[in-house]
Amino acid sequence: MSVAAFTYRARPSTVVFGRGARSRVAEWIDRIGARRALVLSTPQQEADARALAGGIGGRATGVFAGAAMHTPVAVTQQAMEVVRSAGADCVVSLGGGSTTGLGKAIALRTDLPQIVVPTTYAGSEATDILGETDGGRKTTIRDEKVRPEVVIYDPDLTLGLPVAMSVTSGLNAIAHAAEGLYAPDRNPVTSLMALEGMRALREGLPRLVAAPRDPDARSDALYGAWLCGTVLGSVAMALHHKLCHVLGGSFDTPHAETHAILLPHTVHFNEKAVPELLRPAAALFGGSAGGGLWDFAGSLGAPLALRDLGLTEADLDRAAQIATKNPYENPRAFDATSIRALLQAAWEGSRPKD
Ligand code: NAD
Repeated sequence: MSVAAFTYRARPSTVVFGRGARSRVAEWIDRIGARRALVLSTPQQEADARALAGGIGGRATGVFAGAAMHTPVAVTQQAMEVVRSAGADCVVSLGGGSTTGLGKAIALRTDLPQIVVPTTYAGSEATDILGETDGGRKTTIRDEKVRPEVVIYDPDLTLGLPVAMSVTSGLNAIAHAAEGLYAPDRNPVTSLMALEGMRALREGLPRLVAAPRDPDARSDALYGAWLCGTVLGSVAMALHHKLCHVLGGSFDTPHAETHAILLPHTVHFNEKAVPELLRPAAALFGGSAGGGLWDFAGSLGAPLALRDLGLTEADLDRAAQIATKNPYENPRAFDATSIRALLQAAWEGSRPKD
């Protein structure tokens, strides 16, 4: 064995994991020295947010249940009014990436500490990344100020996550790990996390599709999501995340579904350049990494074709142009023609050719 040179940076955050862990939110508000928590959620999860606020008693100053996809600045401004009028000194974000995004947007503007209680597998809680939309334009920043201080994972909160969303969200998580395996700034720790995260989701997702309320399957999936999210928050992403960003940003395709559909194709594309780095993923999913991931997604009932998201072939031409306008690092060189071909395969939903 020969270990290549690397840089490893530990990222400061506390992770509390386990069934029933949501009962520890009050303890962690106390431990970070806060007294007045504003609980955040989407309108769909308001009842859960109110239950959580009830559980933390006098430490809750209120609930803001207006979080929305892609963190619109107008929503953040409304929430900021509530933060000010309530005199909040921390936020508790209960939900998926949309709610976590709102908490991060508040932290960016106030530096208030965040306690995140994730209920999907998107992984935003483990990153220093924030994407905000204003006037239809999405801008993404990386800033340590937005990395949540405390994350409390309670698998019981994911028991009711609909199966279709669980599957696409789980594949979204696997995408972070897949790109982590070939990230130029990867290190032995992020690679271990990426593989263990993929393994946990490889085992958990089929079991939760068969039995959505199986707490063990849910625990495995959420554990995998933590690891994959941590990889996303530690190393640089490449072509896969870029293409998802282009489709989501310019064509408003849904976040997790877009990741789920593109993943086998982007991995297949890059596997040609770095087969040795993706070999452990290929071993996990069977055959090649790209083909194996396509088979895995299909076996879970995931969407496989971009055309089912309402995209047209003309959209693909434009997406390929946008995605190749500015150069960025990727293990395999690409141009508009090769990206257009990749998008065509993903649009048709065909299995990547080994
Ligand atoms: P989401 O947060 O938008 O949730 C989708 C819907 O499912 C919402 O209505 C939500 O209330 C509901 N929901 C969430 N958990 C539930 C549960 N357990 N049971 C029932 N309903 C539940 O979806 P997401 O995929 O988690 O997040 C997507 C957003 O997060 C996108 O805007 C994406 O850009 C962002 N994101 C950011 C990062 C980052 O690092 N900044 C990482 C991943 C995703």
